[in-house]
Amino acid sequence: MENRHYSDRRGYSRRRRQTGSVLSYIILGSILATLLVIAGWLYLHKGTGDTKDASSPDVESDGTPPGEGDGTGGADTESPETDGAQETEGAAEDNSLEGYLARAGRLAAGYDYDAAIELLTASPYADSQEALAAVEEYNAVKSTLVRANPREITHVFFHTLIMDNSKAFDGDDRQKGYNQVMTTKSEFLKILQSMYDRGFVLVRLHDIAYETTLDDGSVGFREGDIMLPPGKQPFVMSQDDVCYYEYMDGDGFAKRVIVGEDGRPTCEMKMDDGSISVGSYDLIPLLDDFIDEHPDFSYKGARAVIAFTGYNGILGYRTAPSYSSKELYDEAHANTNKKYEDFLAERPDFNYEQERQDAARVAECLKASGYELASHSWGHRNMGNIDMEDFIADTDKWEDQVETLTGPCDIILFPFGSDIGDWHPYDTSSERFQYLHSKGFRYFCNVDSNKYYVQIGADHMRQGRRNLDGYRMYYDLPESGTGNEHLKDLFDVNEVFDRDRPTPVPKMSE
Ligand SMILES: [Zn+2]
Repeated sequence: MENRHYSDRRGYSRRRRQTGSVLSYIILGSILATLLVIAGWLYLHKGTGDTKDASSPDVESDGTPPGEGDGTGGADTESPETDGAQETEGAAEDNSLEGYLARAGRLAAGYDYDAAIELLTASPYADSQEALAAVEEYNAVKSTLVRANPREITHVFFHTLIMDNSKAFDGDDRQKGYNQVMTTKSEFLKILQSMYDRGFVLVRLHDIAYETTLDDGSVGFREGDIMLPPGKQPFVMSQDDVCYYEYMDGDGFAKRVIVGEDGRPTCEMKMDDGSISVGSYDLIPLLDDFIDEHPDFSYKGARAVIAFTGYNGILGYRTAPSYSSKELYDEAHANTNKKYEDFLAERPDFNYEQERQDAARVAECLKASGYELASHSWGHRNMGNIDMEDFIADTDKWEDQVETLTGPCDIILFPFGSDIGDWHPYDTSSERFQYLHSKGFRYFCNVDSNKYYVQIGADHMRQGRRNLDGYRMYYDLPESGTGNEHLKDLFDVNEVFDRDRPTPVPKMSE
């Protein structure tokens, strides 16, 4: 609201200066023309940023910056100013017919036809020919929509993306693992393009099924009604281990996720000369960039599920208690020769409490941008096999150390693709299910190479996920001789597989 007010004033004073002469009208006319062009550009390119203003209750309730009054005020006050400057033109469009049409167009591009219709119907231009025509068009499209079968929704996942192949595939002892389970930037971008071209549309896990009060007054799970034009098919995307672990330093990955100057999530990466560059150095900003260009790739603002362990910290911030003191650090690093002094020498300004506040601020920004946050266990444990005692301790640690940063999470993406049950519907009386359920988890994802694996239970949902990594892609290539075609429905693996990879990609057992 503040932004809009600020922008209104700017727009008003700008207009007031130009009164009277014909010259003024010419200038005013050209300004309006410019605004129209900008409005059009914004419509095409700025889907996400403006969706925030467009009154989705979910987004707004999550939109409060967590950093207020916590010492990050400097950074916080900067972003609204930047937004205000950007939206000076945007706010002028807000009040014009063109502005309303552009905003409705963005909502409709993301398949929220009801919101688009409501926006125009409630606008001061509701009776204008243009608004009536747009409403009629949205209603016409709406009548053609098809409900997606919630049990036929595929889920693909990635790890941290490799930005610099020469560093990830440099022959050191990490190369093999990166080659097997990571995806390169070029592969990721080609996968997005192919899935977009084939009509895939990103949805949230919460769109597929959700917990609600049922007709009989009990709380239970209900299938979502994902309505898409014919030929479009929903899918879920997730990314595991978005922690930028210590061991990944210098191997060609981003350093951490930050809130950019425009208030949107972006990444920092350390360059060869030691400088820190800000840009689209991992899945989150790359996906946002793609959706800016292709707003119809995202259903009602959906983004990916982002999953964290807790043993180093989240999003590249060293938030685990082991970073809070020399004693705890040296204990946690007993099997390495790393000492707290070395850690601090690399980060002279390190402040543990600040680190946690910064991580929480980024987590909040991700939720406001449409991302869903998830547990990947605290210690990257096999949650199906470990002792029950360890299972409880790990789950509690995640709650204490990570959920205190992310806010309540109801999704768990099991490490190693393990699970707490086999493919049969969960035995919901099992101790492990009961414990996770008591901690608020409702969505449980394993790894499965089937196209679809969705189970919607009375009080939870399960979905299998498909790894789109070096291992899976290599063994789908004709040259691997396996005859596998696991990825055929998503993309042409011959076109996507990054030839910078050392081949053959080692088998997982090797
Ligand atoms: Zn993992």
